[in-house]
Amino acid sequence: MARKIRRPSWDESFMLAAALAASRSSCLHIKAGAGIVKDKRLIASGYNGAPQNIENCLERGCRKEEYRIPFETKGTGTCRGAHAEKNAMDQIAREDLKGTTIYTIRYPCSACAKEIVGNGIVEVVYARGYDEPDSLTDELFKEARVKLRHLRISEIRLKELEQSLRSVLYD
Ligand SMILES: [Zn+2]
Ligand SMILES: [Zn+2]
Repeated sequence: MARKIRRPSWDESFMLAAALAASRSSCLHIKAGAGIVKDKRLIASGYNGAPQNIENCLERGCRKEEYRIPFETKGTGTCRGAHAEKNAMDQIAREDLKGTTIYTIRYPCSACAKEIVGNGIVEVVYARGYDEPDSLTDELFKEARVKLRHLRISEIRLKELEQSLRSVLYD
């Protein structure tokens, strides 16, 4: 049996759930994922990708690439994909989103921030910021008193967590 590894915290396990969702992303460059949590239960998750019934960017190619728009450019107007936070929020009724926490790999864009605020989500936990944070997102969260937290899982800690998953699956 491998050495004892500290059990993942709630924060870590929900962020890992968001990362797991992100692994299904159909974006050509950015893997984003989100999980929505109520009373320590994961009630929905999503990744960035096209809605059902249409081809995704992996199958069809992405217009951002076609028009040479940098992938870091936020907004989904030129791409058939929707953002992870939106796809996660769309999975459940608006009523059920009230008072929840959203775990998201990427710091939310302002379009998602509007929906997060409008749906009554009270807390946002993100793993990766952008070089240039979206100041409108900051402003909206502040005004609506949405609690914003940065949770960074270090590479050393990630190795430990991978180790503990390996032991779950194989030991
Ligand atoms: Zn795309
Ligand atoms: Zn977004």
